[in-house]
This record gives sequence, structure tokens and C-alpha cells, in this order.
Amino acid sequence: MIPSNWLKCLILLLALWPSGLIKGAWAQAAEESSRRLGIQISLQFLPHQEKLLKTDLDFLKTISSWNALSQLEKKTMDLLTGDSSELNQWLRQRIQFLLPIGPQLRIQIFENEGPFLYPYEDVFPQEMEDVFTMENSQAGHLMSNSGVAYYLFGKRRNEILSLNFKNHFPKLKSDLLVLSPRIGIIHVHKNTFNYQNKISVSGREPADRLQRLSFLFHEGRHSDGHGANLGFYHTMCPPGHDYTGRIACDTPSNGAYSVSALFLKKSLEVCHACTEGHKETLRLTYLDSKLRVLDKNILSPEEQEQINQYENEMNILGHQLLGAYSRSDEARIVLLKKSLQEITEKINQIKKPINLPKTYWKSEPEVLNYNHEPESD
Ligand SMILES: [Zn+2]
Repeated sequence: MIPSNWLKCLILLLALWPSGLIKGAWAQAAEESSRRLGIQISLQFLPHQEKLLKTDLDFLKTISSWNALSQLEKKTMDLLTGDSSELNQWLRQRIQFLLPIGPQLRIQIFENEGPFLYPYEDVFPQEMEDVFTMENSQAGHLMSNSGVAYYLFGKRRNEILSLNFKNHFPKLKSDLLVLSPRIGIIHVHKNTFNYQNKISVSGREPADRLQRLSFLFHEGRHSDGHGANLGFYHTMCPPGHDYTGRIACDTPSNGAYSVSALFLKKSLEVCHACTEGHKETLRLTYLDSKLRVLDKNILSPEEQEQINQYENEMNILGHQLLGAYSRSDEARIVLLKKSLQEITEKINQIKKPINLPKTYWKSEPEVLNYNHEPESD
């Protein structure tokens, strides 16, 4: 039985923490069922939201095969070619359910527990407080991977969580047990559908779809990993970074931001239906993800301050140069150009990239080997 306080605590936590990872009540059966059905979209979405998500996933099926992948690119997503069927499979292995934030799931501790042992039982990732609060963010929360959160919740307490979400997926025949971070439950926040996160006015252009799909691929990576690297949790961005102090960076080169960056980069290369303007916008999203991967030199506050000073000096010199041009003062022009060049070199010296060694975390997910079927006599 579940102590009522404990249950209240769990329900409260889940109400505040909108995410969840559930696996088929009968692990094997649910696995097969989900694979057959593909990614399931909750009935609780508004009709236009549901339609958009469905057509995004349809769009993924039509995506042109990516250009040849480098060895490092293959390593980033464990891919062979990056053709449409491989991308579909990649996503569907990691995401099974899309739900809106709002209608809560009914969660309880699975009661008929037999003996079970969580893999890497005493090893946990360093969960960051706001890892599920928001990923990108031009407009607040977009998506979050709840599955890994539920799995960890159960593992920390050595309990198995059971989830009933028939109000989202009426066709599910039974409750689902959370036996792996690959349960793949993604909550999609309403901001995902807001105008701030649309590239075109309609939000239905290829670039819009690629952007939303990149969020899904990002969340998909959070369904991976084991032991200390379970969930591919983000880390705090260091001083000098655009997101200093926020849990919005990745240490490994195959983390969620690397996955979304690679997805956008390779898809953009072959998106013939994307307009040039839309491509530019998507490139900014790509760069935003790319720069969150901490495998390059990060400027210290002092270095950034020094660069600011140099840039101010360059501004002043630039104005003086314009004046010299207007007076056709050749000697002055040569002098000013030389000074500008010297400052540019000083800035480049500070910015000189230091390529840190890349690290890759193993993506194999944890799976709790648990057979709930009653033993026959
Ligand atoms: Zn993330």
C-alpha cells in the first residue's frame, strides 16, 4: 500500500513537475504496442495543436536524406546515414507519447512488486533543478521530457511507478509501468504553438516544422543514457557564456543541444522548400544550440571586458577613418587602417578558439528487468 502522505507528496510533485515516463504495464507488450502505434498524441491537445504535431511528424517522413555524415556527426546521434527512415526510427525509439501540460496523469506505486533491481542502482546523474523548465527560449517553456524524470523518481525510491493516462490515450489497454527512461513521455507546452515560436505567420512552413522537430529530437536525447549520464542532463553555463549561470549547456558532444543542432544543420542543407529568409532564422536557432555545447573556449568576464574596450576603440577609429576619407587624407587613412588591423588581431588573439577534447556519453538507456507476471505453480 502507499502511505497517503507519500502519495500526496508524489501527486503534488507531479502536479508541479509536469512530466512523466511510463512504460507499458506489461513491459514487453507495451513496447510492441507503442512501436506499432508510433508516437501517440494526446486527445487533450486542442484540435489545431494536435493537427500541427501530427503534420510535423508526417513532415519528418518526407524529409530529404541528409548529405553524407562525417564520423563525428554519426557519433553525435548514433546514425549511419541520416535518411528519413533512420530519423523516424531514432525519434520513435525515444519518444512514445506527446501530451499537453495541464490534465494530470494518475500515478501510483505499482503494488504487486516482485523482486527487482534497478540497473546502476546506486549511481545517479546530477539532476539540475530546472532541467525540465525550459529548453530553448524565446518564449518560455516549450517541451520537456517527463519520462526520464519519472524513471529517476522511481529509481531513487526503489519503487516502480505505474501510470494511468487513459484520459490522454483511451486506446491504451492498461496502465503503464515506468521501467526505462525510454518510456518517452514528452510534455508539449502551449508556448510551442505561440506566434513567438513560429517562423512564418502560419507556423506551418517547412522551416517551422523543422524547428519544432528539432525540439523533439532534443527531448529524445533526454530519454537516453545510464548511470551518472542517465537523461543527458544539462549543466550550468560557465562565466562568459551567453547563458551564464543557467542550466542551459551541455558537457558531452552528443547531448541534447548537439542533437538539435545537428538535426537543424543537416536538414537545412537539404530543405529545398525553405525560403532563404526562413533558413537564416533557423540558422540562428542552430547556432543557439551549437553554442551551448561546451567544447570550445569560453571567454572570461575579463577577456570579454577587454574585447569590449577594443571594440569601442575600433568604433572611434572607424569614425576617424570616415573623416580621413572625406578629406582624402591618405597618410591618415594608412595610419588608421594599420591601427584597426592591430586591434582586430588583438581581439582575434583573445578569441582564439581552444578546442577542448570532445567527450561522448554512451546513449544506451537503462532498462529495469522486471517481470510482473505472476509465477505459475
Ligand atoms: Zn534539454
